[in-house]
Amino acid sequence: MKAIQLVTHGKPGKFELRELPEPQPGPDEVVVQVQSCGLNHLDLWLEEAGLPVPVLLPRTPGSEIAGTIFATGTAVADWKHGDRVAIQSNLFCGECEFCKRGDESTCVRGELLGVTRDGGFAGQVVVPARSLVRLPDAVGFDTSAALTLAGSTAMHILTNRAQVREGDWVLAIGGASGVGSAAIQIAKQLGARVISTGSTEAKRALAHHLGAEFVVDSNNANWSAEVRKITNKRGVDLIVEHVGGEVLLKCFECLARNGTIVTCGATAGREVTLNLWPIFVKQQRLIGSYGRNRADMQATLEWAAAGKLKPVIDSVFPLDQVPAAFAKLRSRHVLGKVLIEPFEPESEGD
Ligand SMILES: [Zn+2]
Repeated sequence: MKAIQLVTHGKPGKFELRELPEPQPGPDEVVVQVQSCGLNHLDLWLEEAGLPVPVLLPRTPGSEIAGTIFATGTAVADWKHGDRVAIQSNLFCGECEFCKRGDESTCVRGELLGVTRDGGFAGQVVVPARSLVRLPDAVGFDTSAALTLAGSTAMHILTNRAQVREGDWVLAIGGASGVGSAAIQIAKQLGARVISTGSTEAKRALAHHLGAEFVVDSNNANWSAEVRKITNKRGVDLIVEHVGGEVLLKCFECLARNGTIVTCGATAGREVTLNLWPIFVKQQRLIGSYGRNRADMQATLEWAAAGKLKPVIDSVFPLDQVPAAFAKLRSRHVLGKVLIEPFEPESEGD
């Protein structure tokens, strides 16, 4: 099978398109033929050696995988050749106290697909059968690959880590991003009034189109004051934050009393200095969110099948163009998801 492998870290890193032996499943594993795989900021961190986990090279990146089952291990009974699946990329052990209660995203023995083991920028990928989620008939491979990482992250934030009440003000940072575009749609469906941010006219227009009532220009140094103005100086109840650094600090400036910030990323900086006084006086919360549980993926795919959640796809690249796809995501000139299709697209109207 063909796979694109990162052979040297860098910005850009060095990739090679290689012919590798077909993976063989262990007893409780399956081999999935990859139909579509989303590109994420996680992949850029892998490329740059920017992750706080040791990575052995060469490595096949790619964590947001949709495909069909090609082969099953001897102990796998629930899946068969040809089944359409999405893969929970937070690989989990299924046995620790957190997995046992369904909180697989906090698994103590978790692995990251495409980071600590080979991922989906390849013809095939081998994963534990427990990480599979069945793809509803109405959901195409590209839709799944564009939603199951960033979209289910937003689902995890808005329905697991925090709750949205009817009429709440929700601020979704970066409305044209994977997490932001899903957060706008999910929060709106849950009855919230949604504000978003965007750095270009096109990104702000997209956020409006997805359901944000107001969209502020994130290039404006006073964007948090704009958000306060929109809410009559009250501030917002819940903020979906995935940028970190200065953006996280600005979020506190437009957070209401009793408000909550959920943070799931730190592309703009992992270390900040917080003034604790307003946080405890205003009884605010800062909550971490990491990945998703299988239940969040199932909900995301069910919402997609019901037409309640639509992915925004920027572009689709073939396997040999993966370095160009990485460069495009790094340039930040993307509206929605960048996808990799290892095979010619199938005629399924996806
Ligand atoms: Zn576990």
